Amino acid sequence: MSLAWVRYTSCSGCQLMLTNCEAQLAELAMQVELREFDLISSACAEKGRVDLALVEGSVSTPTELDSLLDLRARSRWLVAIGACALTGGINALAGGAERPEPGTFPPQPLRRFVRVDWEIPGCPPERSELLSLFGALRHGGWPARLECAVCMECRIAENRCLLMEDRLPCLGPVTRAGCRARCPGVGVACEGCRGEVAEAHRDEVFRLLAGCGLPSREVRRRLGRFRGNGHD
Ligand code: SF4
Ligand code: SF4
Repeated sequence: MSLAWVRYTSCSGCQLMLTNCEAQLAELAMQVELREFDLISSACAEKGRVDLALVEGSVSTPTELDSLLDLRARSRWLVAIGACALTGGINALAGGAERPEPGTFPPQPLRRFVRVDWEIPGCPPERSELLSLFGALRHGGWPARLECAVCMECRIAENRCLLMEDRLPCLGPVTRAGCRARCPGVGVACEGCRGEVAEAHRDEVFRLLAGCGLPSREVRRRLGRFRGNGHD
């Protein structure tokens, strides 16, 4: 399987999650033929058709958009990796949407411009989800998808509920699971980096967040964060 990992506006953290899978890299190297992956090698082959394109980062310049359209045209599967590629991520939170630099436009998720075959959420994504993508494709399918909220994993881990017990504005109820409630597990409110879960009970969560003492405007801003994952 030929592979291209392409990065647009982002921090390279998603690539690092894959390259940090030391124990699995040797086996992975036997499965894939690297065509483009600047973080690993500058000696990549000439750009051509690839089986799998993994794309990190939001699209925020005309050059990135041209590159994405070209990549889509020459890829069998295109997978968006991480919050920036799925929703605009941190780049969109930084206020760039309101004040783009010259030569740029507001950070956009990939699926605003091209068909995306699969998404791996997170900031950064979980290593296990990156690895399971290769495993699933090898067997002719896509990985299993968890369709529940972070709260479910948080309850399973028997964490203290930061929202109900400490009145912290945790976004776990509207955020899709898969991180094993990493942040609440260490006493930090979920920021929603995995994007919005399908069938999120936004009205009820709005009421709960307002009960934490947040003004309505701040609740709306917080709930709108990392949205844009296909359910809006
Ligand atoms: S701490 Fe957050 S993620 Fe955990 S159960 Fe409470 S609201 Fe849900
Ligand atoms: S708990 Fe929330 S913010 Fe933390 S990793 Fe999971 S989805 Fe992201």
